[in-house]
Amino acid sequence: KSVDTQSGSTGQPATKPMTGTEIKVNVSIPAAAERAAATGADGVGLLRIEHMILSTSKTPERYIADHGERAYVDEIVDGVRTVAESFYPRPVRVRTLDAPTDEFRQLDGGEDEPNEHNPMLGYRGIRRSLDRPETFRLELEAFRRLYDMGYDNVELMLPLVTDAEDVLRAKAIMEDVGLDPEKRSWGVMVETPASALSIESICEAGIDFASFGTNDLTQYTLAVDRNNENVADRFDELHPAVLELISSTIETCREHDVATSICGQAGSKPEMVRHLVNSGVTSISANIDAVFDVQQEVKRVEQRLLLESVR
Ligand code: PEP
Ligand code: MG
Repeated sequence: KSVDTQSGSTGQPATKPMTGTEIKVNVSIPAAAERAAATGADGVGLLRIEHMILSTSKTPERYIADHGERAYVDEIVDGVRTVAESFYPRPVRVRTLDAPTDEFRQLDGGEDEPNEHNPMLGYRGIRRSLDRPETFRLELEAFRRLYDMGYDNVELMLPLVTDAEDVLRAKAIMEDVGLDPEKRSWGVMVETPASALSIESICEAGIDFASFGTNDLTQYTLAVDRNNENVADRFDELHPAVLELISSTIETCREHDVATSICGQAGSKPEMVRHLVNSGVTSISANIDAVFDVQQEVKRVEQRLLLESVR
């Protein structure tokens, strides 16, 4: 399986410091793939499928109604392939659909989306996917096609899971579509406090990795809307409550041999990098422009830990 390893990757620029913690990069759109790959990062920590769909200005269901299922799968295959190719054989973590309904409502077909008071607490991520298995299956079909094409560096990540039941239901659909969860690298985002507190049973569902979505984990832990400027000064990814959920999740994942990572914005912040490395995280994914600084910070923290361990 192409899960995170501690070994570092081949084909990297000589200037890249060798660290035990892998440093990955977040890729916002497939067009940024080459620039992201040139950072020498160990892989992609987050590639969001919905950007490939939102760029068509249609909701997934409208896109499928207008162009057909095959075209929907093609759209995803083409987008992911661009990134998987640029990084091959470095792993590329691809997240299944996760956009709140208020974003979908602005698109062609948006009138058919639920009108929610609290879209961030509503019909998004794995909840929508499990409720609309016909759309979810097409996304999974795209992964299957990519594996058939030889892109075995693609990893599948499930967003906004709450508990093991979400994960097991998604896993059953993966199996049904012909994706072998034993053979492929797949995992979850930890971005609800419930998923952090249920991580033991989520690990037991058979995941290979858990990745912190700190944008959401912070908003849900602190009850601070990430898009509300009235409480923006309270949005603190370094709040002790958030840090505690992160370190306890890493500890449990280590006990279950499950890799851990971060793909929220906080992965680019030195204070968070220090907390993660001190807690024993497997990899950190940063924005393209922050990869170099994160590499340097990780190296500093690891050297300090090494010195402390021999003292
Ligand atoms: C997160 O929540 O930290 C995350 C990476 O997902 P998104 O920002 O797409 O919700
Ligand atoms: Mg999120």
